Amino acid sequence: MAVKETGVSYYGLSYPEHAKRDFQEMLAHNCNAVILALSEFDIDFWFPNIVRIAETAKELGLRVYLDTWGVGKWFGGEPPSLFLNNNVANRQVSAFTGEPLAASCFNTEAFRRYYFEIVEKLATYVKAADGFFWDEPHYALPKSYASITGGAGDDWSCRCPVCQKKFEAEYGYEMPKQLTMEVKRFRQDKALDILEEAALRIKRIRPDSKMVCCVHATLGTYYVTENRGYDNWDKVGKSSACDVFSTTILSYQLPRSFFKSITQRTVDTAKKFGKGSQRWLMNYYQQPDDISEIEEICKLYADMGVESLFAWTYRGGYGTVLAAPNALEMWDALGRGYGAVLNK
Ligand SMILES: [Zn+2]
Repeated sequence: MAVKETGVSYYGLSYPEHAKRDFQEMLAHNCNAVILALSEFDIDFWFPNIVRIAETAKELGLRVYLDTWGVGKWFGGEPPSLFLNNNVANRQVSAFTGEPLAASCFNTEAFRRYYFEIVEKLATYVKAADGFFWDEPHYALPKSYASITGGAGDDWSCRCPVCQKKFEAEYGYEMPKQLTMEVKRFRQDKALDILEEAALRIKRIRPDSKMVCCVHATLGTYYVTENRGYDNWDKVGKSSACDVFSTTILSYQLPRSFFKSITQRTVDTAKKFGKGSQRWLMNYYQQPDDISEIEEICKLYADMGVESLFAWTYRGGYGTVLAAPNALEMWDALGRGYGAVLNK
């Protein structure tokens, strides 16, 4: 089966005339779409050129998605957050220690208004964009280490005064410090509420805008769940914040059977709710022992009926601390993989 869409994320964007050459390189690598990864600083500082860069991509024939990358540290990604920089409050709070975390609480009015202003500004002025990419939204995991696949931890967030008040108003008792069934449900509902409100506001401005909701590609099963707030894929797939159901990259060290089961669950969830499906490929940081395996994974995803393939990131992360060991070779292999499966 052929896929409809192939693309990469693109960050550090500043000048449309420079971006143009990069977009041409993407086309030569069989991409027909690009995700512009926009940090809070980019959106604040480079806004005029973001508008022009999106137009440039569009003129070259690429579909364009806007990624509110790392915003508030609620979305995944490396960029720092201006909101956290400018606010000492409105942070997520550890349930066990009561200490504030380096992540915005997206249930506070201050952060919600801040985020809605960002998406409304993007929807209004970046007219060349086809949609938005919700990039690994999650509650902060208050633990001393991070990992690609998360991992278990007892502590959780957010138990800030705002979340506590909202929980008590809904459930009629004080928010527990344990991650009970009600707390899990409350967190999931609130995690989608802000995205649904954002999607509504975007579609009021741009009715055709597509919302791609990309959640962590983790087990999320009966026995194992990471409780990031978006672990119930049925809830996410059903949500009005999700036109395309997408799941993130997988480490190449994981068995291929895991790639298959995540992809099957992704496609099944998308189909169940009449949404598009998207799978991500890792094209930075790690590479398979045999680089051509990335071409096989493209084929696997295509054969399993995935409609959209995306890779993080342009040029295999070349020039960053998170570059794949053979970044440019990975980028070329991805281009070949895309070329073999894209329905042109
Ligand atoms: Zn909170």
